[in-house]
Amino acid sequence: AKEVGGNSYQFFSTEMAARAQAKLGIESSLRRAFNHQEFFLVYQPQFDLRTRKISGFEALLRWAHPTEGTIGPSRFIPVAEETGLIIPLGAWVLQTACRQAMAWRKAGFPRMRMAVNISARQFARPDFIDLVEGVLKETGLEPELLEIELTETTVMESIEEAITTLTDLKIRKVNLAIDDFGTGYSSLIYLKHFPFDRIKIAQEFVRNIPGDPEDRAIVEAILVMGRSLKLAVIAEGVEKKEQLDFLTKRHCHEMQGYYFGRPACAGEIPGRIISGGLH
Ligand code: C2E
Ligand code: CA
Ligand code: CA
Repeated sequence: AKEVGGNSYQFFSTEMAARAQAKLGIESSLRRAFNHQEFFLVYQPQFDLRTRKISGFEALLRWAHPTEGTIGPSRFIPVAEETGLIIPLGAWVLQTACRQAMAWRKAGFPRMRMAVNISARQFARPDFIDLVEGVLKETGLEPELLEIELTETTVMESIEEAITTLTDLKIRKVNLAIDDFGTGYSSLIYLKHFPFDRIKIAQEFVRNIPGDPEDRAIVEAILVMGRSLKLAVIAEGVEKKEQLDFLTKRHCHEMQGYYFGRPACAGEIPGRIISGGLH
């Protein structure tokens, strides 16, 4: 680690050293994992209540660790972002998800969106549009079937650039969704300048409805706002019938969560689900 150089070494506490060592360990094992193709994607269905069909899937990254088993993204994405590995890894995710969407199309399944999470560091790259264009061209996936998920924090980091990139994506007919809506620092004033198609209500607000009056009010406000700004709204983390009922009554048309289906490998998703059916 670069911190361990020069005179600063003597001020380095053992705890800091241990932490740096641990990070170094994760960093090198992440690189090794990437080179050994230990990453894989799982897909979680998104359900449209009006059509009563699956409207799309979200691709979620997993690490098949040789000794520790499957590791979720919250444990390694931050390090991948810090070290820059997110750039090749994120490109691989985009390509793999689009290939899978295309494979389902070629197998005769109905048109469905494929949503891909993009980290701030990926989005800020000047060649991000080229990457998206390249992947769409290579896979042959219709841009209308790709959805890019960005957090509020990602787009607020550099507003002018974000508007340009988002507009470029929109010109190319790619769908744009705001992930974890309500958790970042967002400005409603900017929201209207961003060409988003969809808002994803963060899981943390969905978790405690209908019981928690504050979360209920937040969810209701997001739904009203989405309607007036003509943005589609999807609720994340729907696990229970009571949540589904609350959201249905308030005209939330799309939902995602364990209630409808857990993320699964492409090969484990039954054909009837990819065909749009529920269970
Ligand atoms: P996210 O984008 O908000 O993804 C939703 C997370 O909620 C996923 O966790 C999913 O498995 C989980 N989830 C879905 N339904 C339910 C439910 O009903 N209840 C509960 N408790 N959880 C549910 P996961 O897969 O661990 O991903 C965590 C985060 O890691 C994602 O949050 C996303 O921010 C990030 N991530 C995942 N894949 C990628 C990727 O390919 N690239 C980047 N940059 N980030 C990724
Ligand atoms: Ca997401
Ligand atoms: Ca989310």
